[in-house]
Order: sequence, then C-alpha cells, then structure tokens
Amino acid sequence: MPVGAVLVLGDEVIARAHNSTAGTCDPIAHAEILCIREAAQQLGSWRLLDATLYCTLEPCAMCAGAMLQSRVGTLVYGARNDLSGEVSHVMGRVHARRIGSIKQDGLNELGRLKTLGVICRRR
Ligand SMILES: [Zn+2]
Repeated sequence: MPVGAVLVLGDEVIARAHNSTAGTCDPIAHAEILCIREAAQQLGSWRLLDATLYCTLEPCAMCAGAMLQSRVGTLVYGARNDLSGEVSHVMGRVHARRIGSIKQDGLNELGRLKTLGVICRRR
C-alpha cells in the first residue's frame, strides 16, 4: 500500500514524501521519516513543535518514534494500520484517536486533509 505524508507549519507545506523503501533499497525510507528529515532541513531545526504531520496510514513504531524525537506537535492520520500501526502504543503521551479516512490522492489537497481535523496532539 502506498503511504504518503505531508508536514505543514501554519498554512505552509514544508515537506512531502511517499514511501520509498523499494525504490531506494532503504528499509527506513518511510514517508514519515523522509518528510520529517526534509522538514528539519528546510526549517534548519530538528524540533518541529508547531508542525502538523498528515499521514495516509497510522505510523509504524519507527515513525512514531521519529515523531517523538523531532517533537512533531500534531499528527493526523487516515487509515488505522492493524498490521504495524504503533502510534497509540509508542506515543503513550499523546492522545490518539482516528477521525476519518484520507483518500490516496488527498495529499495533494491540503484543504481537504484539514477537514479531517486534528487527531493526535502532544500533551
Ligand atoms: Zn513507518
């Protein structure tokens, strides 16, 4: 399943990415990791406190850990990942609740993503 992520600060898209594990032979090239890395470089800071990360799928344990390390302020995800989704376990300090689904092409339409609302917020 293709996974996409967009990191937003205010009304500005700072970074966007999709899973690239197969194409790059990089097992950690998940959309969320690539997006966080790009955003940190763009902003010149590893702290992404005021940023919102939108993901099509509930992040895995690795990506949830990266969100904690980078201090992403808010996470919004579409589909729950029953196989490897770990956000509610890894991000124990975060209130996690899924609101709705994001269509696959939704990452190009920030306005539509925002209508899904905020589901995870750092406490
Ligand atoms: Zn991941």
